[in-house]
Amino acid sequence: MTRILHRTIGADLPRAVAGQGVYITDAGGRSFIDGSGGAAVSCLGHGHAEVLEAMRAQMDAIAYAHTSFFTTPALESLADRLVALTPPGLDYVYPVSGGSEAVEAALKMARQYFVEIGQPQRRHIIARRQSYHGNTIGALATGGNALRRAQFQPILPETHHVSPCYAYRDQQVGETPEAYAARLADELDAKIRDLGEDRVMAFVAEPVVGATLGAVGPVADYFRRIRAVCDRYGVLLILDEVMCGMGRTGSLFAFEQEGIVPDLVTIAKGLGGGYQPIGAVMLSDCIYRAFAEGSGLFQHGHTYIGHPVAAAAADKVVEIISRPGMMDHVRAMGDRLQAGLDAALGQSPHVGDIRGRGLFRGIELVADKDSKTPFDPALKIHARVKAEAMARGLLCYPAGGTIDGRRGDHVLLAPPYIVAPGEIDMIVERLRDAI
Ligand code: PMP
Repeated sequence: MTRILHRTIGADLPRAVAGQGVYITDAGGRSFIDGSGGAAVSCLGHGHAEVLEAMRAQMDAIAYAHTSFFTTPALESLADRLVALTPPGLDYVYPVSGGSEAVEAALKMARQYFVEIGQPQRRHIIARRQSYHGNTIGALATGGNALRRAQFQPILPETHHVSPCYAYRDQQVGETPEAYAARLADELDAKIRDLGEDRVMAFVAEPVVGATLGAVGPVADYFRRIRAVCDRYGVLLILDEVMCGMGRTGSLFAFEQEGIVPDLVTIAKGLGGGYQPIGAVMLSDCIYRAFAEGSGLFQHGHTYIGHPVAAAAADKVVEIISRPGMMDHVRAMGDRLQAGLDAALGQSPHVGDIRGRGLFRGIELVADKDSKTPFDPALKIHARVKAEAMARGLLCYPAGGTIDGRRGDHVLLAPPYIVAPGEIDMIVERLRDAI
């Protein structure tokens, strides 16, 4: 009997004992192709020799130094590297140990920023329905997943939600992408005015929605319009790239494809590539200066932030991701994955939509393709696809059931960037058979 409290109590899971490249092996000798990098984490696959070497060297030198006493060359190198690779406007890095911590820190940074500049009444956070921003209480309240929030009510009262940008379901017949984007921006504008023009501190969104919708990107112009609304009212734009960032969509940040720069961006998952738990918030010079010229203190912190081994791992991961040709490969393999899925599943009466960017692809499963009618949640289609895929030696990351009152089943694919063309084809074949 296991002494582990699993999320699904009593779950009987295989034991992972080895990982190499895009494969994981269990204690029974079964091999799985890692079609989702866990939850879009293992961007360089398993057992990457250069990352292991960087970690080993750091452990030999010094494994831990508290950030209230020391910085480390690894952490400084990581911060410099991230800033150098990021579009101008995000010039500072706050290290944390994971995605929820990054979102939590970004929210507190936004809140304290307004305190520092004499606008403490700005407390409201607006995010989008059917979103996921983490499981700590602030991040959970920000996320628009009603089911996950339900048991923890009353949750932070200053969190509010508007519609996601979800063209497959919500763009009306005959409505252009521009008109759809304008309608969503108007909704945000109205929400801000409703809460009070000087009462809202931040709008939070994932550029490409991962866990809750399955790789749903924005329509053209959506984020430019959202940025304009935020600017109109002095609201900070926080983009959560915990899942879609670090090269996953074919550029280091997904927001680079939208022609905007946020005030804060959260990253994690692919930052450590699964080798170490690590995350970060990147922030604007304006926010940094408000702290530096104000109280001189960010009222936050955790024991393991800036962990030297995590920083060394992430520094190497980011260095590898940023090598010439890497993003070209992600885009090429992503195109191959999309084409393969279109060919294998495009005609299926139960595949409503196949979408995504780079090596971040999603499939929406429906009971009826023409009417887009979702499956009955009681059928647990997403969970069955996961089990069928595992039985065929494929790891994918399905989600669904009922999220925020809406039904839907999705499968997310996010293979490591080192995936080879033949392995993309293997993922497609196994997923087709599983579905
Ligand atoms: N934000 C997003 C967009 C995520 O996808 C996740 C994790 N699925 C988180 C935040 C939370 O990250 P973590 O699980 O590392 O706390």
